[in-house]
Amino acid sequence: MTVQQMEFKTEVKQLLDLMIHSLYSHKEIFLRELISNASDALDKARYESLTNSSLQEKAGDWTIRIIADRAAGTLSVSDNGIGMTRDEIIEALGTIAHSGTKEFLKAMQGSEKKDMPELIGQFGVGFYSSFMVADKVTVLSKKAGTDGLGVRWESTADGAYTLEEIEKKEAGTEVLLHLKADEKKYAEEWELREVVKKYSDYIEYPIVMKVERQKPDAFDKEKTITVEEDETLNSQKAIWLKDKADITEDAYAEFYKHLSHDFNAPAKVLHYKAEGTSEFTALLFIPSKLPLGIFYKDYKMGPTLYVRRVQIMDHCEELIPPYLRFVKGVIDSSDLPLNVSREMLQSNRQIGVIRKNITKKILDALADMKRDEYEKYTAFHREFGRVLKEGIHFDYERREQIADLLLFPSTRTAAGSFTTLQDYLSQMKEGQEDIYYITGTSLPEVLKSPHLEVFREKEYEVLVLLDDIDDMIMAGLREYKGKKIKSVIKGDIKLDVPDGAEQKKAAEEFEGLLAAIREHLKADVKEVRLSGRLKDSPCCLVMDESGLDPNMEKLMKAMGQEVPVNLRILEINPGHQLFGVMRSMVPDDQRRELLGEYIDMVYNQALLLEGSPLKDPAGFARSIARLMTEQGSRRP
Ligand code: ADP
Repeated sequence: MTVQQMEFKTEVKQLLDLMIHSLYSHKEIFLRELISNASDALDKARYESLTNSSLQEKAGDWTIRIIADRAAGTLSVSDNGIGMTRDEIIEALGTIAHSGTKEFLKAMQGSEKKDMPELIGQFGVGFYSSFMVADKVTVLSKKAGTDGLGVRWESTADGAYTLEEIEKKEAGTEVLLHLKADEKKYAEEWELREVVKKYSDYIEYPIVMKVERQKPDAFDKEKTITVEEDETLNSQKAIWLKDKADITEDAYAEFYKHLSHDFNAPAKVLHYKAEGTSEFTALLFIPSKLPLGIFYKDYKMGPTLYVRRVQIMDHCEELIPPYLRFVKGVIDSSDLPLNVSREMLQSNRQIGVIRKNITKKILDALADMKRDEYEKYTAFHREFGRVLKEGIHFDYERREQIADLLLFPSTRTAAGSFTTLQDYLSQMKEGQEDIYYITGTSLPEVLKSPHLEVFREKEYEVLVLLDDIDDMIMAGLREYKGKKIKSVIKGDIKLDVPDGAEQKKAAEEFEGLLAAIREHLKADVKEVRLSGRLKDSPCCLVMDESGLDPNMEKLMKAMGQEVPVNLRILEINPGHQLFGVMRSMVPDDQRRELLGEYIDMVYNQALLLEGSPLKDPAGFARSIARLMTEQGSRRP
């Protein structure tokens, strides 16, 4: 049979190079990776066998086998799982598909060589980690459910690998490591037993190794003979079915790594058994770092679903609301039928019960963390706040409970600290009716916004919201414990309403100017009015109560959505000198053109303040230059 020479993809070459020269002191993790792959392959085969009768004869015999050959200096890890076809093996062992591994390479590029050992330990780098201990790796595989030939893959990690068709009796995969001269200890029984116990004890399939035993000779009691027998190295008990008291933090973390491919330890572990309307065991992890791709459509969410220890699917999205999609874990149900299908899941009552139960547990756990481990909670919130708050919009019933979990910077908090809605309420000024917030993209910039002037003067706290979806979220929440929630850049704010007579007088005085501005900007703004929120700045743009927030507008445009025409309201500060000057220009026909130029400048200033592009940047620059020239030549 012909042997084909194949090239690795560039990134695989890089990774292999790192592995070969690795100085990492815990190289034994290669075994964890191989066993984990074998276990995944068995999960897949077992699931297939539920519906594919040709795989059924194996049921009950799923095994991971370790064969160590001290004399030959080899170690083999094999499984009778799903196996790989030729094409699959090229895809799986010739490229890097796994996002964790890609992340690893990225992290490596930006770090010092000496940090490499650390990084290898944190990331699971999968199959390729075999090359830390082996100078040649051979993989023999045959896809389950096929009759034909199997495939043999081999590489010495020198940039290429070979492929060859082979006869292979059983379906499944064998990975054979030719150990490096100084790594021969991985052919030793005691070493392998230790490593399996440490990293792979919870694997639910037996990990079987042939071991040598000394036994008394049946014929001569004085003598002992050496016999070989199979020993199962792992306790095999699915970790979620074990008693909590028997599970160490490390064991949880190890399992979490296996499950999520996340190299950071989880922030919180929830492990419980539910009884009553639905019987199931849950082992859930709240991660500490935002997983890659969580904001993309194809992000795979949801815990792994087991039914009486048989894995049904690895991401069951029906089990969790999308705003908790960062949670990883396992649900093992006692009530669902084994042949449950995707379609059935959507309408299944049991699934609904489980989902409700775990949603509550997670939200409660977050509330506990916020109360008891505030530091840890702020770190969690920094990573996941943006995802969690989606729940306010999508989970109407629990919106207030979710709102209680949110942290906000505000006009009153010190740099780096936060307030909550509860604290906001308890510290409201006397006479303050509503809860106020402002949106924007950077805290220092937002704090300079003219929209805050009257609030600052009255010492009303304003929450600062910096995520693109915030305006939609707050609009969805609408009120909190009976207090309305309002954006300071929307609607007509009247905190400082002067007495009727004064107001009327101002309205009369400015009538002419307002009319002139309205006429001049009729294509740009929908209304011009005197402002109730400005103290020092001349002008600002605001929206109707229901208007689209500039952040939301940017978000929608970025998502390619059509954005409705969204004319704003221009507010001017009647107390500002500028408008006294402009008012005097209104009746003067000769200064009509100049007034128009002034109005454009006022409007452009307001656009600048909210971070929007100017109407006519060149014209604006010309106007400023002209004014500066006039001023400059008039001054001594
Ligand atoms: P990961 O397992 O994290 O995806 P690996 O580099 O360890 O990354 O493996 C790459 C791929 O190779 C796996 O996703 C799987 O498709 C395939 N693979 C590895 N080992 C086995 C095996 N024992 N049986 C079947 N497929 C395997």
